[in-house]
Amino acid sequence: MPPRIPAIRRHLLAWFDQTQRPMPWRAVHPATPDPYFVLVSEAMLQQTQVSTVIPYFARFITAFPTVADLAAAEEQQVLRLWQGLGYYRRAKNLHKAAQAIVAAHGGRVPDTVAQLRELPGIGPYTAGAIASIAFGRPEPLVDGNVIRVLARLFGMDEVADTPAAKKKIWALAAAFADGPRPGCVNQSLMELGATVCTPKNTRCGECPLQKDCAALDQNKVAVLPRLSPKKKPLHVAHRILAIAKNGRLLFEKRPDTGLWAGMWQMPTLEDPKPSAAGWCAQQYGLQLGNLEKIGHFKHQTTHRTIAFELWQSKVAGGRLKPGLAQWRKADEVDDLPLAKPQLVALGMLG
Ligand code: SF4
Repeated sequence: MPPRIPAIRRHLLAWFDQTQRPMPWRAVHPATPDPYFVLVSEAMLQQTQVSTVIPYFARFITAFPTVADLAAAEEQQVLRLWQGLGYYRRAKNLHKAAQAIVAAHGGRVPDTVAQLRELPGIGPYTAGAIASIAFGRPEPLVDGNVIRVLARLFGMDEVADTPAAKKKIWALAAAFADGPRPGCVNQSLMELGATVCTPKNTRCGECPLQKDCAALDQNKVAVLPRLSPKKKPLHVAHRILAIAKNGRLLFEKRPDTGLWAGMWQMPTLEDPKPSAAGWCAQQYGLQLGNLEKIGHFKHQTTHRTIAFELWQSKVAGGRLKPGLAQWRKADEVDDLPLAKPQLVALGMLG
């Protein structure tokens, strides 16, 4: 363990005790939070900011106050409460994890990293978070914030997201967690990265670790951590079809795997080649009348920039093939989990 870690840990804890942001899933030391709350919040916080998560967390916990309530819920209900948070696989995995906790652990969230890692969707970060924050175990965690803070603090010049560098960072994080109040130490590293040691406009003047920081000392704050260049997002085009019949629109459930798995949508043509009318006849057994373009918008996912076009048409003939889709009034879809682009499209329809 680098000799400075115990002193840095003390500075971090003192800073965290004074400045930590209140969050509904947090407990103030010496209390420990409800492990189920930590499980839910960690699932929601992946790729998502705290301010966005807070209202979702409140609604989710109101609907499913315990692991058993979540385990017993319908997946559609879980996805509906996740609607707008994105990355819906997290919701499906959280639901499955709750079912596994009920089946294998009597409804109590397990407290070891090994048992946590056996649950669906729980990787090393989340297992470390739950074990340390909810159970006070000396387990490390590493996320983007922790990588940035530790790479700067220790002046790591190598590319920080390579497997070898990550191994070093996990070892440093383990040294931080191997001491008093590991859950608070872990949270303080993440909190520092989220609020002070930020990627841009870094606020070193407010940092409790100024005197310990190699990057500040060597004037390298702006260049650390060094990261591999990001892959350019793929550009694709989708067409959403608002197909109307007797004042209702056609909706269908997406497949259980892939993007927006299990969510609902208006028929969406993801292949730019076929004609919408021919595709609808083949896919749904419906003949369309005139197709009218309503508008367009862009949507960004982790790896794709999707240019959406919204088209509308009335059904001119044919019969809906059974089992594929259902007719709904546009204002009667509250029970259907809809991904963000579908909500945007519905908003454009007025
Ligand atoms: S001094 Fe600046 S670069 Fe160093 S840890 Fe603090 S905020 Fe980050």
